[in-house]
Amino acid sequence: MKYAATQNFINGKFVNAGSDRKLDVISPVDGTLLSTVPMSTSKDLDSAVTAAKAAFPAWSRMPIKERVQVFFRYKTLLEKNLDELAKLCSEENGKTYGESVAEIEKSIELTEFATSLPQLITGEILEVSKGVECRTEHVPLGVVASIVPFNFPSMVPNWTIPNAIALGNCMIMKPSEKVPLSCGRLAELLKEAGLPDGVLNIVHGDVEIVEAICDHPGIEAISFVGSTKVAKIVYQRATSNFKRCLALGGAKNHLMVLPDAIPAMTAQNVAASMSGCAGQRCMAASAMVAVGNVDSIIDRICEEARKIVPGENLGAVISKESKERIEGYITEAEKNGAKILVDGRSPKVNGKENGTYVGPTVIDHVTPDMSVAREEIFGPVISIMRAKTVDEALAIENANPYGNAASVFTQNGGMARYIIERASAGMIGVNVGVPVPREPFSFGGWNESKFGVGDITGKSSIEFWTKLKKSTTKWNPEAGINWMS
Ligand code: NAD
Repeated sequence: MKYAATQNFINGKFVNAGSDRKLDVISPVDGTLLSTVPMSTSKDLDSAVTAAKAAFPAWSRMPIKERVQVFFRYKTLLEKNLDELAKLCSEENGKTYGESVAEIEKSIELTEFATSLPQLITGEILEVSKGVECRTEHVPLGVVASIVPFNFPSMVPNWTIPNAIALGNCMIMKPSEKVPLSCGRLAELLKEAGLPDGVLNIVHGDVEIVEAICDHPGIEAISFVGSTKVAKIVYQRATSNFKRCLALGGAKNHLMVLPDAIPAMTAQNVAASMSGCAGQRCMAASAMVAVGNVDSIIDRICEEARKIVPGENLGAVISKESKERIEGYITEAEKNGAKILVDGRSPKVNGKENGTYVGPTVIDHVTPDMSVAREEIFGPVISIMRAKTVDEALAIENANPYGNAASVFTQNGGMARYIIERASAGMIGVNVGVPVPREPFSFGGWNESKFGVGDITGKSSIEFWTKLKKSTTKWNPEAGINWMS
């Protein structure tokens, strides 16, 4: 085993979980056993919540301008340790080193946003009648929890840690059991940056611990990021326990390619979007709607896809089960009459035979009823459907139950606007394959890609991680005259 067994992080210390149940953490890159991860119990969660509750009064009373000083230092530490964090991220997740560097850089940007919160969180005050003032202020919620997926071991935890904590909350983080290592390093860096013990706690585990988080009376709010199936379970369970919940789910992002799209740029963007992070991004293009005749662009997309080599500029998918599932989708589409233009099944990756790789795959003549068109594949696969008109393309896009992202490739501004207004997705790209809004713009989809109100990052997150206090005060200035005499 390359690293020591992963432990929970409670009250500023790494500690063993109460149960012996544990899972192996296997590197998708080459099958190396990296560590084990404990499956914590509700007792472990109790200890974490107790620590967080104890830390809350002092942390929440500290002025926000002081709290964000921790995040200025954390940002510097992320920059200083970027190479090590990126290598760890690649080892446990399987993405390429360059993709991991981009992930840590995004974590830095998210932290930078949190340091600007004092500028954004000012309340309102107004003299509403003579001597009477109404005032609002954002107050932290208390102990909150964040449950995260495997595909961004550093970035998704950093969607919530800096903002929720800078806003005065104390947090229980539940990392993905598939990639538990990066989160531990983030906790160490936060401690080094001066975060008081108990403000951030990590509890590892799977279903049991997630259920315990949803049920725990000491937890006020839960953010969840993961598949739609689990997002629904968590949202329902958390809200039925009267907790605030924001649950981000899966995606099936459609790109619409119009005949006037710039061929080289479009082909590069489509190939990069469907294959980046081995297609394991909730913002990856998974379906393309070819509007009219764009065959020459499809040829170029195939050329670009063939330049993407597993084990070189394409990372591994998370597990053997994932690889089998993705390859199963390709085989099923082929059986149902779709044409495999670029086939990524069972690639040979010399020296990494135990890694879990799927090559880039382009499937043409897919019909909207096929499972590759309807379901989230979460692998480097794009399914191409054909439409005669933009309205037909929009109908295909809007029929899918998800609504994370959609993109259009065109040189016609009016057409782009037409699509922005009509596509049923929270994040739209125009000539952009992965339309992730940069900070301070917030991140969040629509439909079955998100349950709850507001977005998880940016200014929108302020509303989620705080509650508004409204005070009305009346002072009679005349009464003060001669008070000292
Ligand atoms: P997942 O839903 O399997 O797991 C997410 C978290 O839930 C993990 O911490 C896991 O331990 C826990 N979990 C798993 N099954 C559970 C169950 N039955 N009950 C309670 N908890 C459970 O997701 P994943 O495979 O880790 O991540 C990939 C998914 O996440 C994809 O669907 C992807 O689109 C989605 N995702 C969405 C966004 C977004 O912003 N919308 C971002 C990243 C990933």
